[in-house]
Amino acid sequence: MATDCQHLRDAAPDHTAVTPDGCEECLKSGEHWVELRLCLTCGHVGCCDSSPGTHATKHFESTGHPVMRSYRARSGDWRWCYLDNLMSGTAHAAAPPQ
Ligand SMILES: [Zn+2]
Ligand SMILES: [Zn+2]
Ligand SMILES: [Zn+2]
Repeated sequence: MATDCQHLRDAAPDHTAVTPDGCEECLKSGEHWVELRLCLTCGHVGCCDSSPGTHATKHFESTGHPVMRSYRARSGDWRWCYLDNLMSGTAHAAAPPQ
C-alpha cells in the first residue's frame, strides 16, 4: 500500500506561515476554526474541513497547491496530499485529517 507520493516527496518538510496567528481568511472575516493546516507550497494557513470555513481545502481548490501539513494541530504531526488523498507522518489514530 502506498504511503507516499511524488508530491509528498517533493514538498518541503515545513514552511514559514504567512499568518502565524491562524487561518488567513478566518482572521479577516472573524470566523472561528477547529484546526489549522499549513500549505507547504506558499505558507498559507487555512482551517480544516471540521471548521465552518474549510479554507485549507478551498486554498487547494483555488491554487492547486497539493501538500499541506498539520499546523498546531492536536491530531499529530503529518502531511497530506490532496491530489492522492495520502497522508504521511504520525497522526493520532482518533483524529484523521478531514
Ligand atoms: Zn500526491
Ligand atoms: Zn478559515
Ligand atoms: Zn498554497
